[in-house]
Amino acid sequence: MRVLILGAGVTGLTTAQALAAEGHAVTVVDAEPRAGHGASFANGGQLSYSYVAPFAGPGVIGKVPGWLLDPDGPLRFRPQPDPGQWKWLIAFLAACNPSTAETTTRRLLLLSMLSRDLMAEFAARAPFDFAFAPAGKLVLQPDAAAMAGARRQVELQAGLGSAQQALSREECLALEPALAHIARRIAGGIHTPGEDAGDCRMFCEGLAQSLTRSNAAITLQMGTRVTQLIRAEGRVRGAVTTAGVIEADAVVLALGTGARALARPLGLDLPIYPLKGYSLTLPIARDEAAPRLSVTDSAAKVVYARLGQSLRVAGMADVVGYSTALEEKRLSTLIRQARAAFPEASDWQELNPWAGLRPATPTGLPILGRAPENPGLFLNLGQGSLGFTLAMGSAAVLAAEIAGRPPPIPLEGFRL
Ligand SMILES: Cc1cc2nc3c(=O)[nH]c(=O)nc-3n(C[C@H](O)[C@H](O)[C@H](O)COP(=O)(O)OP(=O)(O)OC[C@H]3O[C@@H](n4cnc5c(N)ncnc54)[C@H](O)[C@@H]3O)c2cc1C
Repeated sequence: MRVLILGAGVTGLTTAQALAAEGHAVTVVDAEPRAGHGASFANGGQLSYSYVAPFAGPGVIGKVPGWLLDPDGPLRFRPQPDPGQWKWLIAFLAACNPSTAETTTRRLLLLSMLSRDLMAEFAARAPFDFAFAPAGKLVLQPDAAAMAGARRQVELQAGLGSAQQALSREECLALEPALAHIARRIAGGIHTPGEDAGDCRMFCEGLAQSLTRSNAAITLQMGTRVTQLIRAEGRVRGAVTTAGVIEADAVVLALGTGARALARPLGLDLPIYPLKGYSLTLPIARDEAAPRLSVTDSAAKVVYARLGQSLRVAGMADVVGYSTALEEKRLSTLIRQARAAFPEASDWQELNPWAGLRPATPTGLPILGRAPENPGLFLNLGQGSLGFTLAMGSAAVLAAEIAGRPPPIPLEGFRL
């Protein structure tokens, strides 16, 4: 089958890999000159299979006013003249209840555990370096109440494939001595030894190169913007691009936050809105001062991952529209937080700041599978804060859908 994949981020490329392995002829199209230059470029680097509880959690509504009033808070909201933003926010608030959050967590764990197994298989024989490390992850909790909530989540997930341990402050420090500077701010932490880390841009660029080098049936057409999906005689048959029309037997929409506008003329209202985040990539100056484990500061909502000789710091979730401009205030907050946590890890001269747009759905569940009422069109979208983590499993789901096989996990809740 000729499959056209729109988007060469981590979602589109892993889909290309899964489809090529099944013998399809695959063309991947992206507006950027290189693969992985959208949200996949400098994300948190965490392959965080056990931390999939959605942002729309039961305690969130109560915390939102405090976060918005705090200039260093993890959340920003700037109203836009876009009904999509309001619709998304209303659906997000509606999802902030215990039963929706628990159902979402259970469903996401099925997808993340599938992704973990596929990533382990891939990493063991990866034909390129992407700073992959089975680093394990420590999520720090600021006080006894947060620690109690975290323990409850560990219990919920224990039967769902997550092996996690609650640690005291002293045990956290013994496991990760680089935490010494923030020891006073933590009550304890949850350790998940099975979590991985990796550089998502290196993964995308390496995958794009190795796929096209090893398989003549895969074509990457970069620097090509998609302007319209083609629907004729009752099915989707390709796309109009700045390089002309590309016809296909199946089209996969993996455009991240770019998908919504293209899907609308086909009658598809995709509940995806950008959650803007920031990152820094700091060359490590003193090895022992940078964490070896991936670390999440759950109070500040900042994540840290060691990627080779660099420390990746990422955070913020700003509902402010589609701009990726670096806002000075947000960056200086992230720099201050990172510097307070690991002051000697870097010399703080080279920061490599970046901002990207997480393609987020209100519930946190991605949209996977066949598009309704549009035969020939398939969706792989909306992985939000977990696009790198969920990429392998999402791609396997798409490959099964396109082949007409039963999916590897139940798709209830994932379909549009
Ligand atoms: C600050 C931050 C930290 C994060 N941390 C993590 C983390 O630690 N772990 C994790 O798992 N996830 C993390 N994420 C989320 C993850 O990065 C995303 O979910 C993931 O990159 C989404 O991949 P994607 O391929 O769907 O989208 P993208 O990578 O954005 O790819 C979509 C592609 O579509 C292209 N495109 C869009 N519109 C068009 C068009 N009209 N024509 C042609 N091309 C088009 C874009 O150029 C882009 O290359 C983080 C995100 C951010 C912003």
